[in-house]
Amino acid sequence: MPSPHVLIVGAGLAGPALALALAKQSIKSTIIERRPDMQDIGGVIMLAPNAMRVMDKILDIGHSLRAKGYSFEAINIHLQEADNKLDHVGGFRVSDGATNGLSISRPVLHEALLAACQEEGMKELIELRYGAKMEHIEETDSGVEAVLEGGERITGDIMIGCDGIGSRVRKHILGDANPEPVYSGIAVIGAVTPASTVTFPSTVQLPAFCYTQHGTFLSFAMDQSGQELQWATSLQVPERDRKTGWDEYRMSGDAVRDVKRIYADTTVEPIRSFVHGLNNENVKFWAPYQMPDLPTWHTSRVCILGDAAHAIPPSAGQGSAQAFEDIGLLSRLLQGAQPGKGKAEYNQLFEYFERTRRQRVDAVRKMTAGAESSRRPTENSWMWWVKKMGVRAVFRFMGTKGYIQGSAITRYDVTTESLSFR
Ligand SMILES: Cc1cc2nc3c(=O)[nH]c(=O)nc-3n(C[C@H](O)[C@H](O)[C@H](O)COP(=O)(O)OP(=O)(O)OC[C@H]3O[C@@H](n4cnc5c(N)ncnc54)[C@H](O)[C@@H]3O)c2cc1C
Repeated sequence: MPSPHVLIVGAGLAGPALALALAKQSIKSTIIERRPDMQDIGGVIMLAPNAMRVMDKILDIGHSLRAKGYSFEAINIHLQEADNKLDHVGGFRVSDGATNGLSISRPVLHEALLAACQEEGMKELIELRYGAKMEHIEETDSGVEAVLEGGERITGDIMIGCDGIGSRVRKHILGDANPEPVYSGIAVIGAVTPASTVTFPSTVQLPAFCYTQHGTFLSFAMDQSGQELQWATSLQVPERDRKTGWDEYRMSGDAVRDVKRIYADTTVEPIRSFVHGLNNENVKFWAPYQMPDLPTWHTSRVCILGDAAHAIPPSAGQGSAQAFEDIGLLSRLLQGAQPGKGKAEYNQLFEYFERTRRQRVDAVRKMTAGAESSRRPTENSWMWWVKKMGVRAVFRFMGTKGYIQGSAITRYDVTTESLSFR
């Protein structure tokens, strides 16, 4: 009995990861991507242990990723002090002893996923079509068709939308009830910079999360050599047009100017070095949007996952991790799925997938909202003093030697999730 042929829309991070997970179960897929090739949008991705378990146990690429990224046990928290130094107050221990977190360049992760799809035994099951923009979807009782710009049709048994925040697949599922993504109110601005250009006090440990009165700075090593650092800060920037306004903000130089203005007087290292080295050539900019709660994620044969279903702001480093967890569960559910042969219909399978993943994503959203509010600038010196006292107290009293053990969010293992609906 042949397994389903899956149409995957989107070759961002989620699309190739899903194709790979399915190919490991001998399930064929066709990825449809509108871009002409892989686009390098730069930046670094933090893969918390819950994401690394998918890399290890579902995709089997954890080992090769560790060779390309920077493995860490904890995220270190620092506070700007009155003497303009950063004080290391503790952190969050994300590692459970067996699985660490990994920071990795986003293009390197993307390339690794695409390369794994090309390996012997996988490439026979995965077709990747670049320059293929999906215009609309035709769904019947027996299958689904992707109609591309230009009229070409691609047929499959089911379709999974991994087409990101502006998802066309979500529009098919929700019609007029498809909501607009909502701007988080905080933009992320940063750069990749050679470590040799940064003054690094011995009190600062990577990955470093630094609270200042004006906002927070996050800094990661790009790989084990530590020669390059990615840093990012969050700024409260009024909303602009999603299609053109943010590109204008970055390209006009306003993004760089805003960071330099806010941190003009800072002498705190490494923040001073980061801001000093920022320019219009190396700036990375991201205005994170989130999806409001959707009425549903699926029809009978079409389902969405990743940012298309539940884009989450980056404050807790869980955006792509949630997409990878989706893929872990969905690929396990599709293993051996032969609807119509006394097995569950795809509709039931998608229903179970959505119910299970919604609970988890809601919990991650709550944690992200907490992390997000702590990143905002503090109005005045008095509020800043209170905030510092609060941060210190949390790590001193809730942590062991200042370190709080990883939360249920990072301890989660999607491979232990029940498949009991079958
Ligand atoms: C700068 C930055 C930093 C981030 N940092 C982190 C982090 O530290 N940790 C973390 O977990 N997450 C992070 N994220 C979030 C993370 O990148 C996303 O959650 C993740 O990439 C979602 O993947 P996706 O495949 O669902 O969507 P996307 O990566 O947006 O991919 C969607 C793909 O679909 C294609 N597509 C769209 N419409 C069509 C169509 N009609 N036809 C064909 N193709 C189509 C697009 O071209 C695109 O390639 C970050 C994101 C950014 C931008």
